[in-house]
Amino acid sequence: MADILNYINGQWKASDSGDWIDNVEPATGQVYSRLPDSNTGDINEAVNAAQAAFPSWAGMTPERRSEFMLRIADLIDRDLEMLAQAESKDNGKTVKLAMKVDIPRASANMRFYATAIRHYASEAHVTAGEMVNYTVRSPHGVAGCISPWNLPLYLFTWKIAPALAAGNCVVAKPSELTPMTAYLFCKLCEEAGLPAGVLNVVHGTGKRAGQALVAHPKVPVISFTGGTVTGRHISGVAAPMFKKLSLELGGKNPNIVFADCNLEEAVSKSVESSFANQGEICLCGSRIMVEESIYDNFVDQFVEKANKLRVGDPTEETSHMGALVSEAHLEKVMGYVKLAKEEGGKIASGGDRVKLPGRCAAGYFHEPTIITGLDMHCRTNQEEIFGPVVTITSFKSEESAVAMANETAYGLSATLWTENLKRAHRVAHALHSGIVWVNCWLLRDLRTPFGGTKQSGVGREGGWDALDFFTEPKNICIKL
Ligand code: NAD
Repeated sequence: MADILNYINGQWKASDSGDWIDNVEPATGQVYSRLPDSNTGDINEAVNAAQAAFPSWAGMTPERRSEFMLRIADLIDRDLEMLAQAESKDNGKTVKLAMKVDIPRASANMRFYATAIRHYASEAHVTAGEMVNYTVRSPHGVAGCISPWNLPLYLFTWKIAPALAAGNCVVAKPSELTPMTAYLFCKLCEEAGLPAGVLNVVHGTGKRAGQALVAHPKVPVISFTGGTVTGRHISGVAAPMFKKLSLELGGKNPNIVFADCNLEEAVSKSVESSFANQGEICLCGSRIMVEESIYDNFVDQFVEKANKLRVGDPTEETSHMGALVSEAHLEKVMGYVKLAKEEGGKIASGGDRVKLPGRCAAGYFHEPTIITGLDMHCRTNQEEIFGPVVTITSFKSEESAVAMANETAYGLSATLWTENLKRAHRVAHALHSGIVWVNCWLLRDLRTPFGGTKQSGVGREGGWDALDFFTEPKNICIKL
């Protein structure tokens, strides 16, 4: 059985606690490796290493830091297949998806910030004859980066890339459910010659290692992606210490389909935005709202298309959906399907666990599930399920669609389908969410601000926003 180790100060280490956590392959339900159950001592050691490495890393030219990061990006590309297989085994997603999305995006994240930092200039404000102000942006020191299990390497690199590019040293804690690719990533950093202590990865649970990182007095900045409940807890620890916080949290995203849309495109992309990665993407459109006049037609076509998705062994090329990340998560999803029925929902398709034969007999598979007949106020339509479960609800007017869409505590992303340009702008402006996709979904330009409003988060990642977050501005005013 392979042991995953912490990477601290360029050294491979088990936890000082001597404790381990089993790492389960979701597709088989079998333990296949273990990871350190790290504690405060391990976090302290990692923070000390990052602090010691900081002056030299921050003192390098951006070009020099960029060279290290580009080398790492190239190594990710070289190992694409191996990393995709590792991600699939660890998370349950299909190898096909990891090959197409997760791993290429991880190298893109590294490359994007490796090059962005070369163009990150300071601002100046000049009042002729009176004064000149200029802004210096310096890295904070040690950045704490905490990432979730759904897009493991993709979201891990989405944080550490801007942190490192800006000149911070990092202590990162990946999800205990999917630690493997962060571990393999550290091996690539070692191969690329990244100086010891610049990136430190400490594995373990949120309650132990994560909590110690958030509470550490020498970590002034925390970038967190995960659930809203965890985000609230982290705020409670970090805010009284006046830490800079970025929180990317949950969502309950509306997907609004107007009668004047291109129906074929809307159906096909909506199936993808519902069930890609088993519905375990924070941006999945889990509340589909369809204009009354095309509702029946949409539901028929959507169900027909979803029924063609094959839930299967994630290693097989013909599988469209793999396993959910854990048994506990499968139970959570099944609990919501039960709740939906109790709330009066009708299962238009799916609704059950999938039992596969052979190797995957004990895996955590679930059918793509479509529920109709619920109103927007019920728990099924208000709480994040984060699995392959969507509801479809009809609406009568543009105003009611916007009201329904905005009627949750979340505000991460929204999608809308219409061929009417004015309506597209009007509705996009009226939606309470950080991201709006019009006639598309998950079409990403890494320069754009990424994040949510309301209980979906605080702050934005992406583009200059992430570099601003990972630096402290200082204004210097000179009298002329
Ligand atoms: P989670 O909140 O359970 O865990 C996320 C990370 O936080 C893990 O590494 C975990 O170990 C750590 N953690 C848990 N408790 C902690 C604590 N007390 N202190 C410090 N760290 C702690 O979330 P998850 O189940 O891994 O991920 C799913 C959630 O993430 C969903 O709600 C999803 O919407 C959200 N998500 C959001 C985005 C986004 O960009 N907004 C992206 C992906 C996932």
